[in-house]
Amino acid sequence: MSSRRKFLTDCGILAGGAGFSYLTLSHKELTGIDIKSGKSSGLILRFKPYELNLKHVFTIAEGSRSKTPVMLTELEFDNIIGYGEASMPPYLGESHATATAFLNKVDLTHFESPFLMEDILAYVDQLAPGNYAAKASVDIALHDLVGKIIKQPWYKVWGLNPEKTPNTSFTIGIDKPDVVRSKVREADPYRILKVKLGQGNDKEMIETVRGETNKPICVDVNQGWKDKKMALEMAQWLKEKGVVFIEQPMPKSLVDETAWLTQNSPLPIIADEAFQTIGDFKKVHGVYSGINIKLMKCGGLRAAYIMIKMARALDMKVMIGCMTETSCAVTAAAQLSPLVDWADLDGNLLIDNDVFKGILIKDGKIVLPDTPGIGVSKI
Ligand code: MG
Repeated sequence: MSSRRKFLTDCGILAGGAGFSYLTLSHKELTGIDIKSGKSSGLILRFKPYELNLKHVFTIAEGSRSKTPVMLTELEFDNIIGYGEASMPPYLGESHATATAFLNKVDLTHFESPFLMEDILAYVDQLAPGNYAAKASVDIALHDLVGKIIKQPWYKVWGLNPEKTPNTSFTIGIDKPDVVRSKVREADPYRILKVKLGQGNDKEMIETVRGETNKPICVDVNQGWKDKKMALEMAQWLKEKGVVFIEQPMPKSLVDETAWLTQNSPLPIIADEAFQTIGDFKKVHGVYSGINIKLMKCGGLRAAYIMIKMARALDMKVMIGCMTETSCAVTAAAQLSPLVDWADLDGNLLIDNDVFKGILIKDGKIVLPDTPGIGVSKI
């Protein structure tokens, strides 16, 4: 009993009084917050636009850019603040203007408890269709807030082993050989590289990387290949070059062609643009070998956790990825990383104006912070 009592005290969930089960404690006893006394004014959401500067101009099959707009959110309850973030690369259709319009609709002051996560996130989701990054910014802040109230990081709440975090890949964008070589050298601390392809110089990109390193590579074509036979030949060639999987080789509209490629490819074929949120499983099951989950595509941690479980039930591979983001959203996603096959959580490493501290990468492997919530602090 005494060790259980110490555990509950450490967790901040024992209000005192032998014989209490924490499952029967009131909200005040669980959190120290007495809602009915009027001390709490409900959940308060704040947000502000911010712009991330990319260290390198970033080129993928869809174009180039040097900045990414984000929205930084805070969710406050009884003087405890949870942090969240929406990252909005332009090709996904969200912007400072759309996120501002959406978040202005969100009024959480009528929720008496942040523990009503299911109700709160269902309310946020029904306010408008789409707006997944803006929705993720509320979901992440809510997870951070609840984790801080119960004084536990989310990987512990989910029962995950922090030793099982994967290596994260480091992204090499499409560029001239000398720039690619210098980026590969910059990626020295990482054990797996993600090479962007799909702009006509694919073999040159891979040969240039292979001239510098024998590390495993994954490739992301961003829908750049239009012909299934050419895609299969490339998959066979890439396998010989030590590539471990191919992300979104063909346009998401080419469903039958992609299913044929997946059936015949020696490498797993992963859906990114073709897979956004829970409802998309019926589109990708049997067509792709696996999915790339990103908080900004699916609306946050709650949906991402469910999707990982669904993918496993369907015997699909799982990758967790990110946009260019601060350490806030990247560290939130990393809380789930012990559950995935591959992680591509380098978005915070590609910017030079981060405003949070969170995960560390040690010898290429994700190291989860032991701090409560999503595990971030403001710089
Ligand atoms: Mg991708």
